[in-house]
Amino acid sequence: MPPLRDAAALRMIDRIPRLGWVGAPSPVAALPRLASALGLDFLGIKRDDLCEPLHGGMKMRKLDYVLAAPPLSTAAAWSAAGGIGSGNVAALAAAAARLGRRVHAHLFWTDPSRSVIDNLAFIASGPTSIRFYPSRLELALARPSLFLPLRARDGDGAAIVPLGATSALGMVGVVRAALELCAQVRAGELPEPERVYVPLGSGGTAAGLAAGLALGGLRSRVVAVAVVERLLASRFRLRALTAELRALLARKGVAPLPPAAPIDLVHGYLGRGYGSPTPASLAACEALAAEGISLEPVYTGKAMAALMADARDRRLGPVLFWQTARREPLPRPSDFCERLPPALSRRLDTYCGGSSR
Ligand SMILES: *Cc1c(COP(=O)(O)O)cnc(C)c1O
Repeated sequence: MPPLRDAAALRMIDRIPRLGWVGAPSPVAALPRLASALGLDFLGIKRDDLCEPLHGGMKMRKLDYVLAAPPLSTAAAWSAAGGIGSGNVAALAAAAARLGRRVHAHLFWTDPSRSVIDNLAFIASGPTSIRFYPSRLELALARPSLFLPLRARDGDGAAIVPLGATSALGMVGVVRAALELCAQVRAGELPEPERVYVPLGSGGTAAGLAAGLALGGLRSRVVAVAVVERLLASRFRLRALTAELRALLARKGVAPLPPAAPIDLVHGYLGRGYGSPTPASLAACEALAAEGISLEPVYTGKAMAALMADARDRRLGPVLFWQTARREPLPRPSDFCERLPPALSRRLDTYCGGSSR
């Protein structure tokens, strides 16, 4: 790869304002034991769970940019939609506590798992107010402005945070992350990955990495493992996100912009739906726990399950897994059920039984 292409790109990217929360590069660790068990010559993991701000994770990289621009940078309250265990809304609650803002959280039902309840309890105990909806569709019908990026403010005046913090600006944080990896490859910390595995939720991580890896001069491809339903995880969506990001980068004078890295869109690991763990994702979480790494079963567990299946299936070059999840544990106040809307705590009876009424 051409020397210093990533450094020059980073200088251009760093003209775009951000909060500056993301600092030192997250480390890349090699997993030689798991690699040899899977028949891989090299398996690395990019530890975004160790990113400094708040609890780390890819969401913080996006919010670093998203929250730095108006109207979010000036609004007293932010409106956001997500599942009851939304990592984005949990990250927002942490950001709001730090910046003295409030979050209007509009949450739809997903099956509860431990990581979902951890996030929900954290959301409930932050500077937040929660509204609960039985399904994503009902939330979308009740609050379309949270889903369509046509308006910057909600009906109640709160500034709207894009779904999954994925907007052109949010993806700039992911591009920056990719350039960080390019520099680590150039420094010899890992071989140039042939494939970079990530979960695909709102798509910003996959699209941002594809743009950033190419910009930094790597020839890697992105393998995006769908953790949401097919309608939401489409080639069409990825193409639209890529176009939006390229337009923003061009406006900001980031040039020349090479074509984005190829993205392999992988279906087949979703299981019952968004938010539901699968046997394969739980097995992947267990395999990584044996390496001292904590995945959760609804995003990263599914992406790792795909990686493990691919590695067993065929011969792969150097593989990098991007740990996009925040670190564990989040503080869990014992009274969080009392802070939930009654309709939600009632549905969580195995977690909230007896404590809410
Ligand atoms: C939100 C999230 C992602 C990011 O996926 P996107 O496609 O960018 O929305 C990845 N992993 C975890 C654990 C997340 O919470």
